[in-house]
Amino acid sequence: MPAEDEGGSGSPSPTAIQTRVSEYWKRAGVLGRALADRPGAPTFRFTEGPPSANGRPHIGHILPRATKDLQLRYRRMRGYRIISEMAGWDCHGLPVEIEVEKRHGLKSRKEIEAFGVARFCDECRATTLSVAAIWEEVSERLGYWLDYTHPYTTMQPSYIESVWWSLKVLFDRGLLEKGHYVLPYCPRCETTLSSHEVAQGYKEATDPSITVRFPLLGEVGPPRFLLVWTTTPWTLVSNLLVTARADLTYVVVRLTDGTEAILAEAALPRYFPAGAEIVTRLTGRELAGREYRPPFPFVPPGPGRFRVALDDMVATDEGTGLVHCSPNFGPEDQRIGAREGVGGFDPLDGRGVFTSLVPLVQGKWFKTADPILIQDLADRGLLERNESVCHTYPFCWRCETPLLYRAIDSWFVRTSRFSEALVRHNSGVAWIPSHLRAGRFGNFLTEAKDWALSRSRYWGTPLPIWMCSKGHPTCIGSFAELERRSGEELPPEFDPHRVTVDRIAFACPTCGEK
Ligand SMILES: [Zn+2]
Ligand SMILES: [Zn+2]
Repeated sequence: MPAEDEGGSGSPSPTAIQTRVSEYWKRAGVLGRALADRPGAPTFRFTEGPPSANGRPHIGHILPRATKDLQLRYRRMRGYRIISEMAGWDCHGLPVEIEVEKRHGLKSRKEIEAFGVARFCDECRATTLSVAAIWEEVSERLGYWLDYTHPYTTMQPSYIESVWWSLKVLFDRGLLEKGHYVLPYCPRCETTLSSHEVAQGYKEATDPSITVRFPLLGEVGPPRFLLVWTTTPWTLVSNLLVTARADLTYVVVRLTDGTEAILAEAALPRYFPAGAEIVTRLTGRELAGREYRPPFPFVPPGPGRFRVALDDMVATDEGTGLVHCSPNFGPEDQRIGAREGVGGFDPLDGRGVFTSLVPLVQGKWFKTADPILIQDLADRGLLERNESVCHTYPFCWRCETPLLYRAIDSWFVRTSRFSEALVRHNSGVAWIPSHLRAGRFGNFLTEAKDWALSRSRYWGTPLPIWMCSKGHPTCIGSFAELERRSGEELPPEFDPHRVTVDRIAFACPTCGEK
């Protein structure tokens, strides 16, 4: 070995070897020759999944690049023509935004807007370009040969236009729709997250685990109440129903203070391990329709509110068999609330802070409101049990803020309508390693949920949907179509991000309004 490989210590220096080989590759023009087109040769199809250009590459990024390189290198040596060798960079999304937020100490969407959305996006763009340059250098050292001089980036106008085209195809087929559903929501990033983003952020957390007395109304005899368990006391503020299961047996037990509590018989050992005096038994069906006084007085009365409803999702493996239902803050709750026609109540602003709808905790973040609400329940004699529970709870994968589930407007791609076909086609795919076919990827497809793709953010592909004042959506599939509709000529350097796109308006093709 040449002396330069000795690294001065008698053992080979990988860095020195790498530098020497790189220099040789450059001198001999190896990259250009490897990437040279081979017309007529058999084709090997390849698409570079673009790494997210928001931070320096680490070893976890290097491994997949080395794996891809191995495959491409082998195919080149076997004389294949590789289509395509184009490098790519994923430039959009929360990771980049959070980098820029950190740099300027921005903590909310309001602060970003004060900072200036255009300036914010310019910084996002500059950040991804400088990070892409670092990635390019690392890839060169790694010998991962792609065409880095003509990369595709997810922020370039032609790329965004192609996304618009795909979205319009989905829209025209009725597969891109607006919905109002309960979705995972990050109160710091002030946006919804997709289910696969949520799956990346489960952590152990300690939360309150409280059992609350809901006094029944119109009972004769001693005061009676429903025992209701929750790990999210802040949602009790917006309670609208209590859910029981029709076929479960519930018991009325007499307590030492002379009052009576109702809970599922199956939950008795958990709440009264020493036994309890059972006054009577009744089924969930017999409980249905009973009215109660809600734990907090902030929700206005409305049709069907504050009574026992029935649902099969009620289980008895934890809690009391009587389930608190807050339709704005849980997917099951929303389903039941919609069926019972009780409407909703959302006392939180975009940052997860209580508004003036709940004076008791106004200005408090949802999680920090918990102890105040628990104390208030205790002061009013409604707190049956106050414990804590260690369980897995979803956190934002980018900023580690605890998520909440809330009913919100979002756009969905109806992927669930294709889950059967996706699973069928996947069964014929040659996966390496093969266990992924039925394993991680197979599971993902089997459980394919509608994709909540809209984010209430700034640095991303803007949804090409314009709403008129009457709520009719128009989906635009290309820049030319946007020019046609708006009658506005787009500048040659048109940059289709929210800052520019939000300014363009046109008459609604359905009703003529803007
Ligand atoms: Zn977040
Ligand atoms: Zn219209």
